[in-house]
Parts: sequence; structure tokens; C-alpha cells
Amino acid sequence: MVTNAGSHGDPSGDSPWETALAQLDEVAELMDLAPGVHETLRAPKRSLIVSVPFRMDDGTTKVVQGYRVHHNVTRGPAKGGIRYYQHVNLAEIKALAMWMTWKCAIVNIPFGGAKGGVQVAVRELSRAELERMTRRYASEILPLIGPERDIPAPDMNTDEEIMSWIMDTYSTNQGYSVPGVVTGKPVAIGGSRGRRGATSRGVMYMIFSTLKTLGRGIDEISIAIQGYGKVGGFAAQLLHDAGCRVVAVSDVDSGLYNERGLDPEAINRHKREAGTVKDFPGAEKITNRELLEIDCDVLVPAAIEGVITVKNADEIKAPIICEAANGPITFEADKILNDRGTFIVPDILANAGGVTVSYFEWVQDIQAYFWDEEQVNDRLRRIMEGAFEGVYALAKEKDLTLRQAAHWIGVGRVADAHLTRGLFP
Ligand code: NAD
Repeated sequence: MVTNAGSHGDPSGDSPWETALAQLDEVAELMDLAPGVHETLRAPKRSLIVSVPFRMDDGTTKVVQGYRVHHNVTRGPAKGGIRYYQHVNLAEIKALAMWMTWKCAIVNIPFGGAKGGVQVAVRELSRAELERMTRRYASEILPLIGPERDIPAPDMNTDEEIMSWIMDTYSTNQGYSVPGVVTGKPVAIGGSRGRRGATSRGVMYMIFSTLKTLGRGIDEISIAIQGYGKVGGFAAQLLHDAGCRVVAVSDVDSGLYNERGLDPEAINRHKREAGTVKDFPGAEKITNRELLEIDCDVLVPAAIEGVITVKNADEIKAPIICEAANGPITFEADKILNDRGTFIVPDILANAGGVTVSYFEWVQDIQAYFWDEEQVNDRLRRIMEGAFEGVYALAKEKDLTLRQAAHWIGVGRVADAHLTRGLFP
């Protein structure tokens, strides 16, 4: 039974939506946010629930539930990924949409926040079934999406090909090609160079900024990464190539540990054949729980939300956590870690590289003028490092955690836009 609480990895009932609201309420008080704006920002602007019927390969019909939520569009079109997951629910999508609003504002790109999801176990579908489901879901959310309105992107269990099906469905409906309706699509149809690894590259820049701030060297640190998907897998590769020792990785099936360091290229080869990191030779087998509790320098949760809760916060040993996943630490667990002095780079800053290059992709699509990868990566680095510096400086100035400072900046920019535009009517 799937509940509406939205707490996948979190047995304490501290759901992503409760976490997102608690974070907003906390910073609203700290920054003395105008009560009317605070109330406005607590509620998503619009939430669409759709029923998605599609044909299975055996001729039967399956019906699943889908969502698309716009949290806020005051600074520009709604922007946010679409995830496919059997436990997706409205409360979770609302939280993710709210975090997108703050994230876009922190890196100062002119988008609001959105998120979408379909409650489905992807592993149980053939590729053809997945395509029919995606096209029907895209048709159901057509009233909301468009390059000036709402631009979806990949997230958990969605990829470039799924983005091209959505782009094709939308374009077929319009009667002409509209590349700017989604980002994270293949370069052949208007995708951006550098988008595929952008979130992971951004995570790497945030780890490097942290190390520089703390006076530590890149080649002296060990890293554990939970989630070996688009974000975690590429981050492992980038960090390994940069000279860090990646000692542990995991996916939903299993975890791997090798104190001397893992070779992501070899793991990728194994994963391509086996479909999982499980049973990779040359590493000790560990559970996802054990991965989180490993004694290493940097922990990178890159899977799902709610994996660090009051139940395991005391067991986390890494002095630095860089949140590649959205909402991996619950509100109460965050307090425990902060009290212990853990340096946490919050999700809305740490994984903002993805939406930043999505913005670049949208700009390139609209201008029909494409950049080379070096330009993309260089602009990404400058934006991410600038955002880190801004958040870190505010945290120091006001004696805040990085999460509070990031929210302060994000919420502050959105509030400023609300107050500048005024309340209609
Ligand atoms: P993905 O589907 O490519 O990979 C997810 C990984 O997590 C897989 O390895 C999967 O096996 C693993 N996983 C799933 N459930 C798990 C569980 N219960 N325990 C341990 N591992 C589990 O997804 P992704 O795009 O890499 O996204 C990962 C996280 O990063 C999500 O929180 C997502 O919202 C966030 N994120 C993604 C992007 C992006 O550009 N894709 C951008 C910003 C944030």
C-alpha cells in the first residue's frame, strides 16, 4: 500500500513534504519573511493528477497514476524533472517541486519550480510499454507543459530517450518541432553538450569548493556514493578521474566497498552486462545502510530522499556530506548532524548543476544556436562556484548552516519577485 506521506527510505514518518515545509518555515522566521509571501510559498501553485492508461505487449491495458506539480512560476517557466518510481506520490512530488523553486533561484536562473512523476515499477515494463506509457503521460500533462510554461527533464528512472518521446509527443501535437519543451534530450534533437554529466559535474565542483574552504587536498580524500545511476555513477567516474579515492558505491540491489578504491570504469562495464553493480568482483559486498555509515571523508547520497533519519544520523561518520540526491536527510536528522559539526552541502545547491545546464539547453534551443562542451562546462563551473561562495558567505555572516543560507538566498529571491510583481488582482 502506497501512502501519501512520501517517505521512501524513512521509517520515522518524516516525509519529504514535511521536511520541505519545515525548512521553509525555519528560514521564513530567520529572515523575517512577509507572512503573506510565506503563506503563498507554502502551497504549490497547481497540482495535476492524471490517470495514465496504456497498452501492454500482451494486449491488456494497464492504468497508472501520474503527477505534475508547479510549485512556483513567479520568476519564470516551471522547471523540474519527471521520475518513474513505484512509490511516487503527490506529497513527494510537491516537496521536489518546492526544492526546484529554491534551487533555480539559488543559481539565479529565470525558472520556477516543478516536478512530475508516474507511479510505476519501470523494471516490470518492456521498452515498448515504457514508450506507450510515456507518450500517454505526456499527452495527459500537455495542458501544463511548453517551452514558455513548464519544461520537464530526466530524474529517477527517466533518461534521454524518454525525453525525446515527450518532445516528439508535444511536437506532433503542435505540428512542428519544439525542442525547448524538454531538456536532457539527445544532442541529435537539440540537447546540450555536457547535459548528461552536468548534475554530477556540479556535485564535483561543490565537493572541490568544500575541500578548498576546509583546506583539504583533492587527492587525500575517500568518498562513498549511494546510488549508481545517472548522477551517482557519473560522479564516481569524475571524482575518480580527478584523483579522489571512491571507496564505496551502491545501487538499489547492493553495495560495493574497497578501502583501496574502486575503478568506476570496470564497474560500468559490469553494470552494462549485469544491469546492476551487484556481484562486481574485487570488492566487498555491503548493504546500503552500511554504505551510509562508512568511515570516509565525503558521503554522497545520490539515490532517493529520506535515507538519513533520526534512526541512523548518529551512525554517520563522514565529516562532509554532499547531497546529490534531493532530500536525502530529514529535517530532524539534519539537526543531529549539524550539532555534530558535519559539513553538509545541501541538495538545492549541491545538485543544481543539472538544472543549470538544462537552462543552457533551453537557451540554446530557443536561440537555435549551440555551444561546445567546454563553454557549457566552464559556464557551469562559474555559476556553481559563485553560488557556493554566496551561500558560504551568508552562512558565515549570519551564523547559519549552509542549508539555511541556501534557503535564505533562494526563498529571498522568490519573495523579492513576488513583492516586486505585487498580488493580483
Ligand atoms: P537514476 O534512476 O539514474 O539512479 C538512481 C540510482 O539510485 C540507481 O542506481 C538506483 O539503483 C538507486 N536506488 C534507487 N532506490 C534506491 C534505494 N532505495 N536505495 C539505494 N539506492 C537506490 O536517478 P538519478 O537521475 O541519478 O537521480 C538520483 C537522485 O539525484 C534523485 O534524488 C534525483 O532527484 C536527484 N537529481 C537528479 C538530477 C538529474 O539530472 N538526473 C538532477 C538533480 C537531482
